[in-house]
Formats: sequence, structure tokens, C-alpha cells
Amino acid sequence: MVENFQVAIDGPASAGKSTIAKILATDLKYVYVDTGAMYRAITLATKLAGLAYEDEEQITALLPKTTIRFEPGSPVQRVFLNDEEVTDDIRSTEVTNNVSLIASYAAVRENLVKRQRDIANSQNVIMDGRDIGTTVLPHAQVKIFLVASVSERAERRYKENLSKGMPSDLNELKKDIEARDYKDSHRQISPLVQAEDAILVDTTGLSITKVVSEITKIIKNKQHQ
Ligand code: C5P
Repeated sequence: MVENFQVAIDGPASAGKSTIAKILATDLKYVYVDTGAMYRAITLATKLAGLAYEDEEQITALLPKTTIRFEPGSPVQRVFLNDEEVTDDIRSTEVTNNVSLIASYAAVRENLVKRQRDIANSQNVIMDGRDIGTTVLPHAQVKIFLVASVSERAERRYKENLSKGMPSDLNELKKDIEARDYKDSHRQISPLVQAEDAILVDTTGLSITKVVSEITKIIKNKQHQ
């Protein structure tokens, strides 16, 4: 068993994982680790190095030379790639559309899983991603599998884009989300799958406050066991 407290939140794209995880981490004073941002940062590093996304060998060589760092920020955590801020750049459409390919490479997964475990070893964490409960932190005290209907996830993303002044096409968003879910669930290494001991939370039709309070109850119950 682990000494410090680990909460793993996995689920498909745009299910609300990072929004919920960030609020929980602030409430509980835990460190929030957005593992998707780490895969996005490696995808951006690939682009900045002028490499093809298919060039697994060169991308593998890039890994030891790449640093990724988080800093607290509002409304989102700030992300630094090789000490340059990339908080917005890692959310570009190009990165979003190529990240699942980069995340399917064995060397990328091995490298980032090690970094994620190192962070979670010494402090209380809330970590969100696709394989946290199954692979990264198999002994996490709390594992949540967060889902929502594709329509609702696309609508949330649509509204989020609008609020950033970026109008988008709802049907395109739906297709992109479905394509990313398919790739993430069907890759060979650590595919997106609910861990056997994870609790399924369906957020379709639920407010953020309601989801946060449901998961807080689950965490508090575990802490008092
Ligand atoms: O969470 P987010 O949507 O930002 O993740 C971006 C991508 O990173 C996912 O679609 C997936 O391909 C990859 N990812 C992963 N394993 C994780 C977190 C993210 O493969 N633990």
C-alpha cells in the first residue's frame, strides 16, 4: 500500500476530468497532475523539433532532452516545456489531433509514466488521464472512471471554445472526440479502460458542483476507513 494519498481519475476526452480534478485538488490541498498535458507537451515538442508525428525513433530520442513542468494558475494550470510556457499551445487543434498517435508509442508512455509515478511518490495527488488507475497508480486509494455522453461532451467543448472566442462546429467536435476515444481505447499499450476497482461516475446532466460533491464523499469515506 502507498503512504500518501492518491486519487486517480480516468475517462474519455472532455468528460470533465481536469475541471473536477482541479477543484478537488484545491479543496483537499493535493497536487493536481494533468497527465494529458504531458502527452500534449511531447506532441508539441515533436512539432517544434520539426519531426514528423510518425517518426517514432526520433521522438524517442527527444524524450530525455525534454522537460515538462507545471505551475499553479487560474483558470488552468500553467505548463512549461523546456522552461517555455506552452499552456495555450498544447491545446491547439493540431496538437489535439495528433496527441493520440504520440501517446501510442511505447517509449513515450514508459518515459511519462515514470515521471508521473515520481511526482505521486512523495505527495498527495489527484492525477487525471486514461491509464492512471490501471497502469500509473494501480494502488491508488480512490479510482474514478468519469464518463458522459458524446453529445454532452461535444457541447461542453463547444461552449468552452466560444468562451475563449473560438467558434467551432458541433458536429466536427463530436467526430473529433469519437475518433480520439477510439484511438485511446484501441491502442496496444495501456488503452483507456475502466480499472476493475474504479467507481464509475456518469456526469451526463450533472452540474460540476454535484460531481465534485459525489467524488468528495467517495474520497472522505476512503480516508476514514
Ligand atoms: O486529457 P487530454 O484530453 O488532454 O489528453 C490528451 C491525450 O493524451 C489523450 O487523447 C490520450 O491520447 C493521451 N493520454 C494518454 N494517457 C494519459 C493521458 C492522456 O494516452 N494518461
